[in-house]
Amino acid sequence: MSVSGSCLCGRVKIEVARFDRDVVACHCVQCRKQSGHHFAATRAQQDDVSITGEQDIKWFKASKHAERGFCQHCGSVMFWKQREVSHISILAGCLDGPTGLKLTRHIFTDDKGDYYDITDDADTYPQAD
Ligand SMILES: [Zn+2]
Ligand SMILES: [Zn+2]
Repeated sequence: MSVSGSCLCGRVKIEVARFDRDVVACHCVQCRKQSGHHFAATRAQQDDVSITGEQDIKWFKASKHAERGFCQHCGSVMFWKQREVSHISILAGCLDGPTGLKLTRHIFTDDKGDYYDITDDADTYPQAD
């Protein structure tokens, strides 16, 4: 059973046939600046994701090894993609439920903001996992 999703304005739509990972919260500075809080992203093989409105996605290269994809009309952050890998991270907030996913890890907690605490029982990693 596939899960669908979209950006806020609806120009970019996705259909994910299968996820290959649960949801990871990333508290790194880049994710915090781009999202306004922290990232929460699941992941899928690129072959399992179909995207409509690909021309409306803007890709920002925040570092040498990864790009961040967002809708250039409404600004919704949707993707994080490393170079030369077969999978793509998908921001969980774009997905229309039910997803069957669970937030299982917090990474880069060394970079997290001082205005919130991590209080769930998911695993925490000071840097990458
Ligand atoms: Zn949009
Ligand atoms: Zn991050």
